[in-house]
Amino acid sequence: MTLSFSRSAPPTGLSHISASTPRAPWIAQRPALILDLDGTLMREDEPMAGGAELLRAYHDRYVIVSNNSTHTALQLARRLRRAGLVVEPGRLVLAGELTIQYLRTRHPHARVLLCASPGLKRHALQSGCQLVEERADIVALALDKRFSYARLERVTQALARGAQFVVSNTDANHPGPAGHVVPQTGALMQAVMVASGCSPGHVVGKPGPAMFEEGLRRLGRPRGEVVVIGDNPATDALGAVRAGLRYLLVGDGDLADAATLADLMRCATPAHAVLPEARASSQAPVRVLSTA
Ligand SMILES: [Mg+2]
Repeated sequence: MTLSFSRSAPPTGLSHISASTPRAPWIAQRPALILDLDGTLMREDEPMAGGAELLRAYHDRYVIVSNNSTHTALQLARRLRRAGLVVEPGRLVLAGELTIQYLRTRHPHARVLLCASPGLKRHALQSGCQLVEERADIVALALDKRFSYARLERVTQALARGAQFVVSNTDANHPGPAGHVVPQTGALMQAVMVASGCSPGHVVGKPGPAMFEEGLRRLGRPRGEVVVIGDNPATDALGAVRAGLRYLLVGDGDLADAATLADLMRCATPAHAVLPEARASSQAPVRVLSTA
């Protein structure tokens, strides 16, 4: 699907910000947004400062592109609504769902040993994937909170017999509330890699291009009119630059442009077109592309 948006009207809900503070350059250019979820809009079930306000302001010109491989878009939209963020499912581009789409389109007849949440497994079955426990052609790994030694053993055996290894995303963890660190798919992937000696043949999630391309497709906007906002330099910034998109980072890290989205909306930093290490080496100001 391609989402509709208003090109002429400025984002509503930001007038009180511009009235009291200098308008951030990236807001003044009225971009469409590709937003990360965990660590940017949410910390587990808690919305982060400025998230709800930003979604209201950009209600018709954003997508959320997340390495979440636990939920379907419908499930996640309900979870976000309970947390106070109203998001249409069509605005959620998720690594788990895109992994199922990849399996269906690229390997339509494959026997798939899928390690994933019950919800994603249901989605895979409803999408037509053939899920098996024996003689798998593909091992597909997403965030599986029931992952166990027995599961690790089964996956390792399948890879030893020649199954392909597909992973939804490689994030080792993401930030939870109060400094809590939440293990992610990448932690399970590392266990599989150590046990089997096999590396993934295909990774669906960020920083790979598939998620950003799907986000751009749904926005229906040229790359020069889109800004990526995330918290992870290794996925959000790297993926944005590889996709030819500008980006901004939030969070506690040294490379963050602002601590929260609320701070970012008041931040004078222009969106970046190159990676932090390239910025540090050049010391040259990055020129922001006109999107007027
Ligand atoms: Mg994140």
